[in-house]
Order: sequence, then C-alpha cells, then structure tokens
Amino acid sequence: MPQYKTPLRDMKFVFNELLNAQEHYKNFEAGKEATPDMVDAILEECSKLCENVLSPLYQSGDQEGCRLEGGKVITPAGFKEAYEEYIAGGWQGISHPEEYGGQGLPLSLGILKSEMVSTANWSWGMYPGLSMGAMNTIYMHGDEQQKQTYLTKLTEGTWTGTMCLTEPQCGTDLGRITTKAVPNEDGSYHVTGTKMFISAGDHDLTDNIVHIVLARLPDAPKGTRGISLFIVPKFTPDAQGNTGEFNHVSVGSLEEKMGIKGSSTCVLNFDQSQGYLIGELNQGLNCMFTFMNTARIGTGLQGACAAELSFQGALAYAKDRLSMRSLSGKKAPEKNADPIIVHPDVRRMLLTQKAIAEGGRAMLYFAAHKADFLMGAEIEEQRARADDDLGFLTPILKAFLTETGCEAANLGVQVFGGHGYIKEWGMEQIVRDTRISTLYEGTTGIQALDLLGRKILLDKGVAFRRFSKEISQYCKGKSPYVSGKCRGKMKSMTSELSSLNLQWKFVAVRLVFNAMRNKDEVGAASVDFLMYSGYIVMAYFWAMMAEKASEALAAGTEEEGFYLAKIQTAEFYFARILQRTKTHYAAMMSGAKNLMQIEEKNFAFL
Ligand SMILES: Cc1cc2nc3c(=O)[nH]c(=O)nc-3n(C[C@H](O)[C@H](O)[C@H](O)COP(=O)(O)OP(=O)(O)OC[C@H]3O[C@@H](n4cnc5c(N)ncnc54)[C@H](O)[C@@H]3O)c2cc1C
Repeated sequence: MPQYKTPLRDMKFVFNELLNAQEHYKNFEAGKEATPDMVDAILEECSKLCENVLSPLYQSGDQEGCRLEGGKVITPAGFKEAYEEYIAGGWQGISHPEEYGGQGLPLSLGILKSEMVSTANWSWGMYPGLSMGAMNTIYMHGDEQQKQTYLTKLTEGTWTGTMCLTEPQCGTDLGRITTKAVPNEDGSYHVTGTKMFISAGDHDLTDNIVHIVLARLPDAPKGTRGISLFIVPKFTPDAQGNTGEFNHVSVGSLEEKMGIKGSSTCVLNFDQSQGYLIGELNQGLNCMFTFMNTARIGTGLQGACAAELSFQGALAYAKDRLSMRSLSGKKAPEKNADPIIVHPDVRRMLLTQKAIAEGGRAMLYFAAHKADFLMGAEIEEQRARADDDLGFLTPILKAFLTETGCEAANLGVQVFGGHGYIKEWGMEQIVRDTRISTLYEGTTGIQALDLLGRKILLDKGVAFRRFSKEISQYCKGKSPYVSGKCRGKMKSMTSELSSLNLQWKFVAVRLVFNAMRNKDEVGAASVDFLMYSGYIVMAYFWAMMAEKASEALAAGTEEEGFYLAKIQTAEFYFARILQRTKTHYAAMMSGAKNLMQIEEKNFAFL
C-alpha cells in the first residue's frame, strides 16, 4: 500500500519559487499574516496529520466502507477520531473570515492543506471538502443571520455541509429537478423531494449536517430559470444555535460504489423539511455555481492527487522489483536481475505520472492565486477579472486533470504488473477511487461544452485570449514568473509553445465559424478541444518550471538533482506528452459528420 509522503520540496518549489507567493500576498490584507514561517508551519503540521493519521486509514476505509444502521450512516473505524483531530487543529477554517471563526488566511494556503488531505485519503477528505463548498456558498450569498447560524458551525467544523443537486431523473440537466419548496408564513419554506448520490449526505462525524438544496417553488418558471437555493439542516438549530429538532431529512439508501467507499453517497428524502432561501428566488443555479466551482477545482485536485499517490507507490516498487537485465547492459551486477526502473518503458510510465502530478500541482496553485484575488482584492475590476480567469480555467482543471489523473493511476497499476491488480498493494484502489472524478461535478463531456460553448463562443473568449496572451508574453521573454536570464536554454520549448499557442487561437476561431454552420460541430469538437487546451496550459507551466530550475542551477545550488529532474521532466513532457495535441487537433478538425452520419438503428445488429 503506498504510504503517503508529503512532497514538501515540490510544493514549496511551485508555491514559493515559481509563483512567488510572498510577493503575491502583498496584494491582500489577508496575505500579511501568511509569512514564510506561517506557511512552513502549516505545511509541516498538516503534513504530520496527513501522513500519520489520514494515510493509514486509506486502505482500511476502503475495506470496511460505510454502512447504514437504523437509518444512520456509520463511517469506517478511525474516521471520526481523525475528523476530531482535524477540527481541533482548526484546519477547516484556515482560509475563512475571522468574524465567522476562521483564521482569515488567503485561499491559496487552503489548497496546500487540501492537496495533502486529498492525496493522503480522498474518501475521508470528501467530508470536510463538501463543507468547504457549503461555506463558500453561504459566505457569498447567505444573509448575516445565516452566516452567524451556519457558517460559524461549518467553519469550526462542528457541522458539515453537502451539495444536493442530483435527482433520480437528472444529474447534468438540472432544469428538470422536481424537489418542491412551498413558502411558509414565517418566511421559511417546506422542502419536499428526493435527492440522490449525495456525498457526505449522512455520517457520524458531526451531530448536524447542513444541506444546500436546489428546489423549485410551485409557481416557478420551468427549467433552470425556476430553481432556487435553500439551506436545509438535518436538525433545525435551537434558540442557542445548537443542534435542535429533527428536520425530516432521512437517508433512503446508501449507494454501493466502485470506489471512494469510505465516503458516504446517499439517497436523501426531504419530507416537508424546513428550508431557508439563500440569495434571490429563482437565482439558485447562479448561487450554486459558487459551490460547483469550488467543487470542480477540488475535483481537478483529485486527479493531480491520484497521480501523486500512484506515482509514489509505483516509484518505490520500480526501484525494488527485479526483472531481467537492462537492454544496454547490467545496471545492478551485484543482483541476479536489474530493478525494473532501468527499463525505458517503466520510465515512460513513471515520468508520465510525475509530469501529470507536478504539472497539475502548478496549474492548481496558479488557479488558487487567482482565487485569492476573487476573495480578497479590494478593487472590483481585479475581482471581476479573477472571476473570468477562473471561469475559463475551471473546466480545464476539472476535466483535463481528472482524465490525466485516471491515466496516471492506471499506469501505477501497470508498473506493478500483475501485483497492481491485487488489492493488497493498494494500487487498484487508487484507480477505483479516482474513476469517479471524471463523472461527478459535471462529466468531462459537460466541462468540454462549458469551455468551448460558453467560455469561448458565448463569452467571446475574453479570458481565453487573456490567458493565451500571457503565454505569448512569456514566450517573448516577458513573464512575471521567470527572470529571462536562462532564455537561451529554453529555445526549443518556448518556440514549440509559441506555435501551439498561435494554433490554439486559430482553432478557436475556426470552431466558432463551424458552430455558426452547425451547432453539432461544438459537441463534436469539444472534448478534443478541452484536452488539447489542457496539454497547452500544462506545457506553459512545465516550460516555466524548467526555466526556473535553470535559473536556480545557474545561480548555484546544493539541490542539483531536484532542479535537473525538473528540466528533464519538462523535456519529457514536451517530447512525448505535448505531442498528443496533434491527435486532438486532427480529431477536432475532422468535423461532426463522422460522428453523426451513422443512423441510430445501424449502431449494432444484435
Ligand atoms: C459517487 C458519487 C458522488 C456524487 N456526489 C454528488 C453530490 O454530492 N451532490 C450531487 O448533487 N450530485 C452528486 N453526484 C451526482 C453526479 O454529479 C452526477 O452523476 C453527474 O453530474 C452526472 O449526471 P448523471 O449521472 O445524471 O448523468 P447524465 O446526465 O444522465 O449523463 C449521462 C452521459 O450523457 C452525457 N451527457 C448528458 N447530457 C449531455 C449533453 N447535453 N451533451 C453531451 N453529453 C451529455 C454525460 O456526459 C454522460 O456521459 C455524485 C455521483 C456519484 C456517482
């Protein structure tokens, strides 16, 4: 079983050296507290919790799973104690406002914590993870009383939150939800309906759960324009704000799943449960986007974390497992065979995992810096721009990092050979646990439509063009992240990135024209466009990381191996992974006809 070891060196490289967090934090009030010592303390303390408490529960949580007893979900042994330790450490609220019980540190510090928790034990991390989305939603759209009643409890972690969108008849197509909210005279609502697949929908970690529920009023317009958002607690708070009367939210069943077995996934029945409107009537989906964007970036993190954990397991095994001799002559003559890490194909797999894990980390931390502006910038224009930039990056982070994360997890099994397929080693668990990431929070297909259909076609690609301009500035030697002193060494990477960046803009325009002719062209090109975009975005970060490493080497360092590996992984990425853009380019340019021409009745003759 891979025992999680926090990749502190790489996390600090991206956070401090590449993105220069300390300079970035000068932009915000909250950033003043985030001194280098504070960042180091967070990394080290949280790392201990993740390595020593959460990681050991990863495999046992999978074996035991959750169970439903007397209408209540019981989590696997150790989950509750780990949660108590987590909230005692104040981890849930590190990036949330002090006035609601948080520590008020920048959001981007929260992603360090989330990465460690998620890599050590994704299933366990879903309980506080879903709460985070509920906290952001109430903070952004709730009224003061709702913040005092619910946000404070969620921030301290004594209650957790959920996201209740999906119903049996619809997951993607939320315009079809039927859960009803009937107004009461006192301003509250009675919420009735069935929600399914609700993560952390019930559990024994806390004594109350705050459900954030999409429902429609009896006279609401049809479709997404008639959806409102409600807080529906499992137990209504009493006059003192503590857990009070049962609010008729019951568990219909607990799903039996392929993976993330330690995370409860529930059918929830709301039976005239008291609910409280968040935001404006019929604006529920807009408010819910706060939750969904948090959760989507969090799900992108799942992909990168799976790549990291699987890589850690595969690397240790590849150094240890002996098989045959290297094609170019014995590498371990003292042994009767060489370790498999000498074989080029095993290195191909390990380097792919490493490139995805470290490239994904850089993409996610970069996005977290944008989120700092969204939450903390004092100038409205800066906030709006960060919102647009994040809106553009979110579908890429969510879908590209989960698709490549699943690939990396599968490669981890492959490195183990037949042993990878055996439960004891834990590698197959990572595959099972990660497989959900391309499905929930909007499938890859839906993220791709969001990127191409909404962010490029409808929003006229403003944020896309801004991001592409940033790459182009970097390629010209004008980047806020690297000094340009090692430009000479970067030539082949920057010229390839530059021509792909040009092609990216050309492709977007071409697809816009195709879409004017036939809307199916959008759906036919969208997933290839998303993956193509993801490889280019990741290439930008790999080029910058290689340049930063070259600068460190040129300045002289005792960590030569670390920086050399960065450059060599970037070379691998450009030579082998980035080349996948060619296939995606050909596929998206081939048009919709080859998908649409076959008649439905001719798909199979059974
Ligand atoms: C373990 C687990 C945890 C979950 N947690 C939560 C949770 O906490 N809260 C919550 O509300 N939900 C949750 N979900 C639900 C999840 O978000 C949905 O399952 C997901 O959004 C997909 O919806 P669906 O299952 O209805 O699939 P469908 O919408 O029926 O989609 C089926 C297929 O059709 C494709 N498709 C659908 N429409 C289109 C279109 N217009 N264009 C192109 N392709 C399309 C999809 O990409 C997919 O491949 C969870 C699900 C699981 C399995």
